[in-house]
Amino acid sequence: MDKNKVEEAVYNLLIALGENPEREGLKDTPRRVANMYEELLEAPELEYTKFEENCKDIVLIKDIEFSSMCEHHLMPFFGVAHIAYIPNGKIIGISKLARIVEKYARRLQVQERMMNQIVEDIKTNLETEDVAICIEAKHMCMVARGIKKVNAKTITSKFTGAFQNSENKNEFYSLLNSRR
Ligand SMILES: [Zn+2]
Repeated sequence: MDKNKVEEAVYNLLIALGENPEREGLKDTPRRVANMYEELLEAPELEYTKFEENCKDIVLIKDIEFSSMCEHHLMPFFGVAHIAYIPNGKIIGISKLARIVEKYARRLQVQERMMNQIVEDIKTNLETEDVAICIEAKHMCMVARGIKKVNAKTITSKFTGAFQNSENKNEFYSLLNSRR
């Protein structure tokens, strides 16, 4: 990311919006926005530490919080991801799954693509075909403008491999709904 260019662009945006970018409250806004974009859009490097483990049961991590940026409106969308997989000889540190979500959240995104990228990442890195994911998010571009549905959530889900059979799918949802 070219932070100087971002600052310059925000400065020009303020002018385009009819504002005076030199006034007190706006003077540091271009710099602040550039720092914010850096934080929101640059994912840290991720190391995949895997462990051999002969586990064939569903591993579910729920309520992984994330915040991303809608590429259609440059406004945040945020919520939680629930991810399950069935290990195929390898498991990954639980916190790493949260980092995988972060890796794909911190870029200009759409929810559907983010979901697919997370699934593909897990399939590739854990060498399993069996992944389930459900993402629940609020999109600021829906909340603050257009149809103004403040409480609307967008829910997307995807099931691959063994999660396509209804037994595992039901297990996923019952684990998800337990103790909520
Ligand atoms: Zn949007």
